[in-house]
Amino acid sequence: MNFADSRHVDELLSRNDLTKSESFEDADFVIVNTCSVRKHAEDRALGWIKSVSNRVKKLIVIGCLARHREEELRKAGADIVKYQFELDDIISKISNNVKSTEKIPSKIAAEVPIVRGCDRFCSYCIVPYLRGPVISISPDDILNEINDLVGRGTRIIQLLGQNVCRYEYKGYSFVDLLRDVAEIEELKKISFLTTHPADLDDSIIDTMAKTDNIMKYIHLPIQSGSDRLLKSMFRGYTTELYRKKIIKIRDSIPDVRITTDIMVGLPGEEEGDFLSTLSIVKEIRFDEVYMFAFSPREGSLDNLRKDILYEGERKRRLKLLIEEQRNITMEKKRDKIGRTMEVIVIKRAKTEELFFTIGEDGSPVLIEKQAEPGDLFSVRISVLKGGSLFGEVISG
Ligand code: SF4
Repeated sequence: MNFADSRHVDELLSRNDLTKSESFEDADFVIVNTCSVRKHAEDRALGWIKSVSNRVKKLIVIGCLARHREEELRKAGADIVKYQFELDDIISKISNNVKSTEKIPSKIAAEVPIVRGCDRFCSYCIVPYLRGPVISISPDDILNEINDLVGRGTRIIQLLGQNVCRYEYKGYSFVDLLRDVAEIEELKKISFLTTHPADLDDSIIDTMAKTDNIMKYIHLPIQSGSDRLLKSMFRGYTTELYRKKIIKIRDSIPDVRITTDIMVGLPGEEEGDFLSTLSIVKEIRFDEVYMFAFSPREGSLDNLRKDILYEGERKRRLKLLIEEQRNITMEKKRDKIGRTMEVIVIKRAKTEELFFTIGEDGSPVLIEKQAEPGDLFSVRISVLKGGSLFGEVISG
């Protein structure tokens, strides 16, 4: 999410016709986006800010750290400390003085935040405390932003939020937004991130299934395969409900690609709970799993628990899970060989004759064909080499 926020800042700067400097010394201002997901990341950011503060004209610090360690950031040399959402205002003020005259094209793929914050309060997570409750951005602002990006060359949009399913603006729902975004001319692909199993309803899945330019890709974090642990994490669903969502998605959207997040070594996780997680991973066969070992985090409820597993055991479980999923990921990729899919070109690869593309299910696919970013092709997946899928262009 933080990477996406940084990319959004980048886009905001481009839209205000601001260009990147080669060095700190040349820059009119430097923006540092901070993350609070781990204490270690916070301390490193503070140290780094201190070390560069006397080399820059104006230092702006945004992100979660700005929310709860403002005083320390100011002492470290930050001139402006703001939460990310207030950045639009700062940028428009600064840009009046330092604007470049050049109109900067936007990237072929861009992320657009649609909802801020989260009010689910999962026991291990500090996001609701740092980012606050759910606030949905007005549809007008979102659609204007997307139209502006498309006008500058963007062809793929990812709608972002901690939980996009909770988007709601004065009776206008996430499905309404999906439909309106899908109608924007010249916008070729749309995806969204992240969904929550308890909030993902059939209308979202049905809209995905019916709308050609919405990618056949969904990231649905399961976190654990143990109902006992899901309950203690306050996730708000059971494995039974999760399975039902997967069945509905797979029945509605043929060849859909499904990814998930899993955390192992949670406080109170017994060997049996961990084995349930391994078992659901084998059963569902996700295309990809983003896997983490629990790390005690100040500010989250789980940090207060006495039954935190020792680090060696957390690492052992993570290693076993990674090994299990690695094989499944490769099998799922191999299953795509022979399949025909539409891809959109992103950029030229390092090897001159190859181009990076994104398939209709969000899979990265390499093709050998002269192309421009944004071109659409129909390809047949021909081979899996070193973990990368290659496609032969059939038409386009
Ligand atoms: S839904 Fe996601 S962002 Fe919200 S509290 Fe749970 S883990 Fe954190």
